[in-house]
Amino acid sequence: MEQTQRVAGGKHRKQPTPARSRIAFVALATGTVSTAGATGVALANNANPAIELTADAAQPGAENSPQILAIPEFKPMPNLGDQLNKAVEYSNVLAAADVAARTPKPKVHTPAEGAFTSGFGMRWGVLHAGIDIANATNTPIYSVLDGVVIDAGAASGFGQWVRVQHEDGTITVYGHVETINVSVGQKVAAGEQIAGMGNRGFSTGTHLHFEVHPNGGGPVDPIPWLANLGIVIA
Ligand SMILES: [Zn+2]
Repeated sequence: MEQTQRVAGGKHRKQPTPARSRIAFVALATGTVSTAGATGVALANNANPAIELTADAAQPGAENSPQILAIPEFKPMPNLGDQLNKAVEYSNVLAAADVAARTPKPKVHTPAEGAFTSGFGMRWGVLHAGIDIANATNTPIYSVLDGVVIDAGAASGFGQWVRVQHEDGTITVYGHVETINVSVGQKVAAGEQIAGMGNRGFSTGTHLHFEVHPNGGGPVDPIPWLANLGIVIA
């Protein structure tokens, strides 16, 4: 009666399989003569081994039992070398992007809002060594990068100017200014107002004349220099 109830309820399936039934299962699955003795023992200790074996085989996860080993088919990966190279390359790209993302970028600010009225280059037979941005008198003029004020006052041709030297040695020049907000030796931050727009010196209208001197040397076109910092003058 006990066997019938266990099979009907299926309750025994949740219980640890008795060692003897596993041995019996091996014997039947392999059908080898050498395990016949074990089978005999199992049969001797189990009133109805057939029921026990059926239940054992139907257990979830029975395929993972030690008796049945699933050996995955070995499939050599084609172009393994290429795939590894691509993986290494991609890893390097990710690493570079990560470094770039964590590298502090210099704060930068446009020198002034206004209309771009004149570019860098020869004008009237002389080099126009900067760009002109026109706007109303006292329109704020900003230091484009962090730096130190090295000139703030009267300057030939510019009427008044402010010059700021930045951390890499580059000097930026802000000319024709009407008002001056800083003094020589003062540290300024990118975007800090250093002057107000004017029409002083050799000028035919209120505008900022802005120059860039990398490493304190000769002037370069500020447009691509600013563009490299993410500032577009148009
Ligand atoms: Zn100019």
